[in-house]
Amino acid sequence: MTHTFFANRVGVLATMHRKEKVIAPILEQALGIKLQLPENFNTDRFGTFTRDRDRPGDQRSTARLKAENALELTGESLAIASEGSFGPHPGFPMIACNCELVVLVDRVHNLEIFGQEISIETNYSHTTVRSVEEAQIFAQTIGFPEHGLVVMPHASTKNPNEIVKGIVSEAQLLTVVTEALRRSPTIHLETDMRALYNPTRMNVIAKATTNLVNAIQSTCPNCAYPGFEPVEYQPGLPCALCHFPTDLTRVAIHHCQHCGFRQEKLFPDGIEAADPAQCPYCNP
Ligand SMILES: [Zn+2]
Ligand SMILES: [Zn+2]
Repeated sequence: MTHTFFANRVGVLATMHRKEKVIAPILEQALGIKLQLPENFNTDRFGTFTRDRDRPGDQRSTARLKAENALELTGESLAIASEGSFGPHPGFPMIACNCELVVLVDRVHNLEIFGQEISIETNYSHTTVRSVEEAQIFAQTIGFPEHGLVVMPHASTKNPNEIVKGIVSEAQLLTVVTEALRRSPTIHLETDMRALYNPTRMNVIAKATTNLVNAIQSTCPNCAYPGFEPVEYQPGLPCALCHFPTDLTRVAIHHCQHCGFRQEKLFPDGIEAADPAQCPYCNP
């Protein structure tokens, strides 16, 4: 399959950490573009998960910034970038979640289209340990060694020389933890969230990329431009029992970046009535 807007164009992939392994095949097949990695492109200067470099803005603007930077660097007109975040789930703060964004920026058609995936499939975790045994127990719970580990003196450590990333073998873990415990009675361990050290995250990036393809294939009914996506959700889904409006989404408003056309879509989540458990009247 190809897309008339993108077929045979070069797309610059503004990513590191081998994310191209999952992003490139999906986009090349769906859009007919040829993806290239810019030389000497270092996305770590846009922030790292290990806090040695803070992120400059929110997730969307960071993804956009990476894409724009790659366009300036290469002089191309089409770029793809991605950005991930980890933290408490917006709806269920006790559960960790991974939010991945993949953005396509097209200077020819003046378009910016996002694909997003929010997943509770993540090993995002950290702990404090005082022995090699405790470190090994933590390693088992996070899917080590297929998933990498990071070791540092404290959770607040910012000095890159004190942070050991990308630990992926039992022997390496033993050496690094033993050495770190020699200098401090307790040390901080956390999951390495960089994509190439985290196959679970790689899967979420693949899903976000597929969602980007779906967003591109959603076209404006008025001008046929791609990226006819929801920009606003309105609550008011009626309760199945008493028909009282709930906080759940009733309408999604789609908007075209090109011609400004707006369209309301009823019941975007595929349900026409809310569970009475979610109703402020039936279940106050
Ligand atoms: Zn339009
Ligand atoms: Zn009700």
